[in-house]
Amino acid sequence: MGWVNRRRDHGSLIFLDLRDRTGISQIVLDKDLIPEGHAKGEQIRPEYVVAAVGKVRLRAADAINPKMPTGEVEIEATELRVLNDTRLAPFSPSEEAIQNEEVRLKYRYVDLRRPEMQRNFRLRHEITLAIRDNLSKQGFLEIETPILTKSTPEGARDFLVPSRVHPGEFYALPQSPQIFKQILMISGFDKYFQIARCFRDEDLRADRQLEFTQVDIEMSFPHQETVFAVAEEFLAAGFAAAGVTLPTPFPRISYDESIRQYGSDKPDLRLPSLVDVRPAFTDAALATLQIDPALPVVALRIPKVGELSRKEREDNHPLFELGKGAKFIDDFKRLSKGFPEAASKVRELVSADEADFVIIVAGDPANPIKASDTKIPGRLSEREINVYSAAGNFRTELAKKYADRHGAFRTTEETVQEAAALNGEKHLVDGSAAFRPIWITDFPMFEYDASLGKWMPAHHPFTAPHEADMANLLTDPASVRANCYDLAMNGLELGSGSIRIHRKDVQQQIFKSLGISDEEAHARFGFFLDALEYGTPPHGGIALGLDRIVMLLAGAPSLREVIAFPKTAKAVDLMAEAPTTVTDEQLKELHIRVALKS
Ligand code: ASP
Repeated sequence: MGWVNRRRDHGSLIFLDLRDRTGISQIVLDKDLIPEGHAKGEQIRPEYVVAAVGKVRLRAADAINPKMPTGEVEIEATELRVLNDTRLAPFSPSEEAIQNEEVRLKYRYVDLRRPEMQRNFRLRHEITLAIRDNLSKQGFLEIETPILTKSTPEGARDFLVPSRVHPGEFYALPQSPQIFKQILMISGFDKYFQIARCFRDEDLRADRQLEFTQVDIEMSFPHQETVFAVAEEFLAAGFAAAGVTLPTPFPRISYDESIRQYGSDKPDLRLPSLVDVRPAFTDAALATLQIDPALPVVALRIPKVGELSRKEREDNHPLFELGKGAKFIDDFKRLSKGFPEAASKVRELVSADEADFVIIVAGDPANPIKASDTKIPGRLSEREINVYSAAGNFRTELAKKYADRHGAFRTTEETVQEAAALNGEKHLVDGSAAFRPIWITDFPMFEYDASLGKWMPAHHPFTAPHEADMANLLTDPASVRANCYDLAMNGLELGSGSIRIHRKDVQQQIFKSLGISDEEAHARFGFFLDALEYGTPPHGGIALGLDRIVMLLAGAPSLREVIAFPKTAKAVDLMAEAPTTVTDEQLKELHIRVALKS
């Protein structure tokens, strides 16, 4: 039973390619054998749902199709039943690539029939199952936490749900189970996990959705190491389920080092890092080039790009982020004319081959940014971070643009394809070059939000600061490091976590340093502050984005390829047509009046 993928009419023989979840088989309708079935076969169109009764037989030698897994056999039908016909969909699941994504999303049920999508969701299932199983074996209990709840701050806007029973009051959908999982530690569960749905009202991108799924974990009495070991193990189990090895332990790098080397806190290790090329320049050269000598001077290298014309280079310029107080030099010919020694030294420092594209990024004294400089020696200042991140973002954008030339991403694509081709075989493909995980540690505790004019938690406000930096909480927030960590892979943030604050007085101090008054803290998190007073064990955890893990392993370009019913970039479900207006009755019941601006 299945859907008719294609029909070929050869007169007295009609061939149906019948498709179901497992693949395609050929059905033969022979006019001499089943005239009635053959007559039905003449009426059949693609996507009809049919059942064929018959015998599996070997195909004649000249009819074997080596491109099809079932190409050596066919089913000689003795009966054909048409279970349903179909309207003509705007595209056929048998097409390879369907360009218009909106049409795909509107007719998602047809789109999901495509073998590629069937494979993505099979993969998602296998990965999820393996992670669940692994965490259970590691002693974690899966416990559900509420969806209708109170705001959990993760830095996004809340989705609110009006209460019918309590006029004027609202539930919030959880941005994560954060507070509840911490309370589960206070409740003595000691190792919790949940494949948890999270809701964040933020602007969408290819790697972001309004609702998404996390593998959420919390444990009592952990060191950072303990959390790393747990996460590495379940992630490796997930990868193994997708046919790929993921060697552990993962490398680690501090936030400052990650910024220095990659200009990013989610570095893609498949490409060369940034290199400090300050030593290539004399002070006089920097002055002539109008480069700020107090800020980093770094070079990025994109391998094998080949020579670029002036026009080609100029087309890249919009990819460089202005507003970070940085500038760049991408014209090496010109640089070589004015500063031959510096130019060749730079290429030597970055070990550039002839065909490699090298760009220097440095502080622009003409466009300084407003920033606070930390007072801690050896740590990066905000201004420095901005120059590095201008370089890092340029590196990422150019790497995307010249992917075909440098080929660094191809290994990942090939590994994914190889793993997919394993088709249930037990052996694993080596993923060590294709997937490059890295822990980022020692993040700053706070980030300054210039638009709000205040310090915000870089992670969330339940993260414990480094003991050594506690004294600076109020005097120099920029210098305070957090006991938190991110896991990045191939330029994507897979997730983050932290060791938590487990004492009420420290938690209150953090709220205070964030400008949250006692009253506000009480109104928003009173129940949690209370709970902290009832014997809270030291605890910590992490959450990794399941959708992102599956996206990487499916080799998919967007989260929408691995979420069955996703929203578009405009936050719309095109199939269900959500969001919509509701009836006046419903609004009345909820004590809500809508006041649109225009
Ligand atoms: N709740 C955090 C998040 O969603 C993860 C964690 O700290 O465990 O990013």
